[in-house]
Amino acid sequence: MYSLETLSGFDFELSSHCNAKCPQCPRYDIFGNLQKDLNVVHLDANIIKKLPIQKMKNLKTVNLCGNFGDPLMHPELNEVLTFFQNQQISISTNASLRSKEWWSNLGRNRNIDVMFCIDGIGTEHELYRRNTSYNKVLENAKAFIESGGNARWQFIVFRHNEHQINEAKKLSEDMGFKEIKFIYSDRFDTDNKWKVYGKNIKINFDSGETTFDLQDTNMVDNNYLYDLEKSSHQTTLRESLNAPEGQKYWKTLNQKKGKISCVCSIERKLYIHSDGTVYPCCMLASVQLGKKIEKLMLKRLVRDYKKIDLHHNNLYDILESDVFKKTLPDSFNGDPFQHPVCIEWCNKNTGKAYFNNKAVLDIH
Ligand code: SF4
Ligand code: SF4
Repeated sequence: MYSLETLSGFDFELSSHCNAKCPQCPRYDIFGNLQKDLNVVHLDANIIKKLPIQKMKNLKTVNLCGNFGDPLMHPELNEVLTFFQNQQISISTNASLRSKEWWSNLGRNRNIDVMFCIDGIGTEHELYRRNTSYNKVLENAKAFIESGGNARWQFIVFRHNEHQINEAKKLSEDMGFKEIKFIYSDRFDTDNKWKVYGKNIKINFDSGETTFDLQDTNMVDNNYLYDLEKSSHQTTLRESLNAPEGQKYWKTLNQKKGKISCVCSIERKLYIHSDGTVYPCCMLASVQLGKKIEKLMLKRLVRDYKKIDLHHNNLYDILESDVFKKTLPDSFNGDPFQHPVCIEWCNKNTGKAYFNNKAVLDIH
């Protein structure tokens, strides 16, 4: 399935810390509180430094994204970046962090590109990227681009920002972004609306304007704020499968599933989680905070997480372990069972990675 020599790319979750509070981010529960079982941690930089990259002759890409945190939160990010001199590094970030000077320096690196997650123009951006500042993000992007940085823009289209698509295209050109990519959230899986709860944020519905008061601490958690709605342009996987609203599309997806084809092992890519455990992809790793049944099923496959933990083994041993050599590949064929996350993403008929309206794997 994998070997050091054929590995083409790493995807790291450098940190599960984050400054932002995006409503659909899996680090939060539906009320916007940090998930109780989230292991809030930075990936130990020594783990990265010990990776035998001199043996990885085909290692071309390093992606810094992650499930539960922002890579810019990592205190030793600069050191990590210098470790991968011969790889193309792609950073995906909310970009509302760090100084203009830091961004300017980053832009001078020819092997680094940055995906800025900007979900709207002005305050519309902050409706999803809660606790970030649109102005700060643009200031940072400007500093990065002006010093020669290769910037890309990811825009998640919702109902509240879909009228800004053309304006965003123009702004991205004017500012010098190399690309703007419009995507949809794959998390409207049972409903077209997502209730947003939280504190420290205010919306002025009366004036028709959206305003924020990030300093107001009177508002408490679990306070209903507003609905996030899917874009009117979006056809969700649930709709494509004709699964009824209010019901998870899982049953339909499972009934119509095809053979599992593991996109990450085909592309020879590996995901390293912020706690040091190794998986083929971020989707399977996200099960750590998933529903009980998904967690239990992964535990039945992996049995002992120490076996895939870089605190206890080197990468070679992990790739040679039963988990990577036998258990996971066998599970794709149903022995002893297919993991629901693998069915959901990588079955060739209805999996999100293959379906017509396929979701983006590296959504942050
Ligand atoms: S989606 Fe990304 S930026 Fe938003 S809260 Fe989650 S980790 Fe942070
Ligand atoms: S979801 Fe499963 S099958 Fe798909 S890339 Fe991840 S490990 Fe492979």
